[in-house]
Amino acid sequence: MFYNNNMDGVDKLRLMGQYMNSEVTDTMDYHLAADSPGCQPQGKNPSPGRRMDTHSASVQKEKSFPIHFAAMPGGKRIALLKTALTTACERNCNYCAFRCGRDFNRQTFSVDELAKTFMQLKQAGMVEGLFLSSGIAGGGMKTQDRLLACAEILRRRFDFKGYIHLKIMPGADKDQVVQAMQFADRVSVNLESPTTLRLQKLAPQKKFLEELLAPLKWVEEIRREYPAWKGWNGRWPSSTTQFVVGAIDETDLELLQVTSFLHKDLHLSRVYYSGFEPVSGTPLENQSAIHPLRQVRLYQSDFLLRDYGFDFEELEFSRSGFLPLEMDPKMIWANNSLRDCPLEINKADYHQLIRVPGIGQVNARRIMEQRKCHFIRDEADLHRLGISVQRAAPFILLNGKRPVHQLPLQFNIPSANVNNIK
Ligand code: SF4
Repeated sequence: MFYNNNMDGVDKLRLMGQYMNSEVTDTMDYHLAADSPGCQPQGKNPSPGRRMDTHSASVQKEKSFPIHFAAMPGGKRIALLKTALTTACERNCNYCAFRCGRDFNRQTFSVDELAKTFMQLKQAGMVEGLFLSSGIAGGGMKTQDRLLACAEILRRRFDFKGYIHLKIMPGADKDQVVQAMQFADRVSVNLESPTTLRLQKLAPQKKFLEELLAPLKWVEEIRREYPAWKGWNGRWPSSTTQFVVGAIDETDLELLQVTSFLHKDLHLSRVYYSGFEPVSGTPLENQSAIHPLRQVRLYQSDFLLRDYGFDFEELEFSRSGFLPLEMDPKMIWANNSLRDCPLEINKADYHQLIRVPGIGQVNARRIMEQRKCHFIRDEADLHRLGISVQRAAPFILLNGKRPVHQLPLQFNIPSANVNNIK
């Protein structure tokens, strides 16, 4: 291991970029409607803004340069610099490229250097926001202090008012969490695994309850107990977490049980499922990557819990605790619950409508609006509202009659490429 602190900041970012992919940002988010069988990656293009000069554009096109596109509330996309203060780390998580003792060229920014490099990229029109993490060097509290110092420089010295997503380090204390919430638009703590026992296999030095779950609880306590004007920009930040999926033997049932708690009790905005990919030079280097459909089914189930009013108990798992891959979880629920007692589209309320495959939140609102004027009579009406008649038809009635539909030959054939699933 060696450290090189004399490089140009942009070169350091480039070197770090190749190791930042295990972290799911707000960017690398599959847009998965819970009522759709497939998914599409979001964010191929930057939001309109200043024109980049030729050099900036070519830097941004590089695969290893850590600029990603994040979806903001309301759908706006921004270019986000995703980086770490250091790729040096004193801990030994079994899946992580930064783990101590792994032989690679580590990079460390000073707090000032990273803040200045970010502002240079911002002034060049290349980035609009920052996702900032770090390896742990000198303990969690000291590392958190450096993350806070960087955010403070950006907010106070450079008057940066844009988006900051700040990581909370394992070992940070509650005061540091409050400070992070006074600088950031979003804070996150990666739980990595759903239980203490599972975490021991994945990250032996991390403490699930004290170091990971506790800070997520503090974030919610602070949001609940302190006035919002104390937070950044007059409001408290949102919070997220991430699990590493498929590196050890955690089940989907365990992951989604914890997810349900995180949404209901701690009001997390997002739970990310980072599909395990082996990294050379780590204890898990020979472990296979997960089937991408597992990640898709987890996201779909997560959205059912978060946005569609489903309870954890309504999800179906195999005996061994995994979601079936061959069919999406909403379709499985509908087959069990609606096929024999279909829902009358002209009478069902919003919460019933969104449970029907092929009818999402937008379509349910359209149906409610349409019904104010006249009945929905046939499949053509459903088509006009943007509803997938093929998916919805087995589970609905139109004025007391089942719509005519053709049964699909197959639902959701598992594929190695999630982007090909439609
Ligand atoms: S503490 Fe974070 S950076 Fe360090 S080895 Fe674990 S996951 Fe990697």
